[in-house]
Amino acid sequence: MTGTRDAALRPGGSAAAERRARGSADGSRAPAPAELLVVGSANADLVTRVERHPAPGETVLGSDLAVHPGGKGANQAVAAARLGARAALLARVGDDAHGRMLLESLRTAGVDTAPVLTGGAPTGVALIAVGARGDNTIVVSPGANARLTPEDVAAAHGVLAGAAVVSLQMEVPAPVVAAAARAAAAAGTRVVLNPSPPGELPDDVLAVCDPLVVNEHEARGLLGGAGAPRDPGEQARALLALGPRSVVVTLGAAGALHRGPGGTVRVPSPAVEAVDTTGAGDAFTGALAWRLARGDTPEAAVRFAVRVGAAAVTRPGAQSSFPTAGALPR
Ligand code: ATP
Repeated sequence: MTGTRDAALRPGGSAAAERRARGSADGSRAPAPAELLVVGSANADLVTRVERHPAPGETVLGSDLAVHPGGKGANQAVAAARLGARAALLARVGDDAHGRMLLESLRTAGVDTAPVLTGGAPTGVALIAVGARGDNTIVVSPGANARLTPEDVAAAHGVLAGAAVVSLQMEVPAPVVAAAARAAAAAGTRVVLNPSPPGELPDDVLAVCDPLVVNEHEARGLLGGAGAPRDPGEQARALLALGPRSVVVTLGAAGALHRGPGGTVRVPSPAVEAVDTTGAGDAFTGALAWRLARGDTPEAAVRFAVRVGAAAVTRPGAQSSFPTAGALPR
């Protein structure tokens, strides 16, 4: 897939992108290289409220449309950057108004958008109808996200190899996730993977996840659904047996649990008044990946991430709810 790298659209152009990718000093003031590379989706979330959801063939009226930046990849990158991370995003957006809105929100948060590709398809969109009881129906049009390719990952190798952690989710094609995980492992870059939405996960990709990050629903899915253990500690033990180097199970208001070769650590969440949990998982994972990139122990990184997840549920929206480092609960 051809396309335009974001850097080529801005003053400084592709030479600046190249310096950034190398992270090398050539006398100019190139930004410091990213410590965290997120590879994943960027979507425009189009949200309207409805009294009731339409039946097939029916039309209902909704509230004024609200347009929010979203997509798990963009969310994680924004969450990390807002906390102070040097985070870059490899994603693809359309050459359209939604793509420009997403690039703007990423840059405002401080995300390095040099690896973001533009063109090839419309920007991914999530059409979200919020019912009167908060019951959502969502249609996702992946658009440009589905056009991200393993070649795009190869072209960003400098950023990937220069980062301490690459964070992956599954809203882009499975071959892209696999290519990024394999390239990271070969380069000695740590892999954090949230398998959401669930999809194909080759054994060799699972084997390099450190950690695999799942919520309880995703854990049950990976463990075979109805027959899966109910206890999160048992889930983590069974997930580790599938091959990843370590596992984190997020537990909503109950916090999170880390399991590695050394055993299990359960980390409670700060008690907060939850207003909207949208994006809490992405805030948690972005924060976790960044703290691991900074050299935290897994336990310390999880302790930090639960505070970020907790802060994110105290405000409405996804990216709009992500905290700065100064706004975290104890
Ligand atoms: P979402 O799909 O809502 O983005 P998720 O289902 O992927 O989230 P959760 O386990 O619900 O993941 O939440 C992720 C993290 O966010 C939790 O580990 C916790 O740190 C924090 N969190 C979520 N809900 C609450 C809550 N009600 N109170 C405090 N912290 C919360």
